[in-house]
Amino acid sequence: MSENCIFCKIVAGDIPANKLYEDDQLIAFHDIHPAAPVHFMIVPKEHIVSLAEANQRHEQLLGRILLLAPILAKEQGLNDGFRTIINTGKGGGQEVMHLHVHVIGGGGPRAM
Ligand code: 5GP
Ligand code: ZN
Repeated sequence: MSENCIFCKIVAGDIPANKLYEDDQLIAFHDIHPAAPVHFMIVPKEHIVSLAEANQRHEQLLGRILLLAPILAKEQGLNDGFRTIINTGKGGGQEVMHLHVHVIGGGGPRAM
């Protein structure tokens, strides 16, 4: 857990989130400012700053995140597709410095 990290606080249950999935490694919750009718994030419970800080040890974790995306997308009613976005670093538009994968859909193509 990293102090002052909003997603670590959500993982710890210190601040609320609208969760749609949780296991020992991962959590998924709806974005507080949705960019489309469905917009949630899949987040590793471990505080990894970004994709640029991930390493070989995270290989299985990263695979699990991507394999979970279509399962949760379907559960949210996204039957004909969705977008996945990973913003990395300041230059990549990342605002929350805890790795997360956005899953977005339901607003037609290019909703975000
Ligand atoms: P980034 O730009 O880092 O890829 O995206 C961060 C996302 O986290 C933004 O879409 C923002 O709306 C969302 N977000 C920021 N703070 C919170 C929060 O406290 N709760 C939830 N559910 N989403 C948040
Ligand atoms: Zn964190």
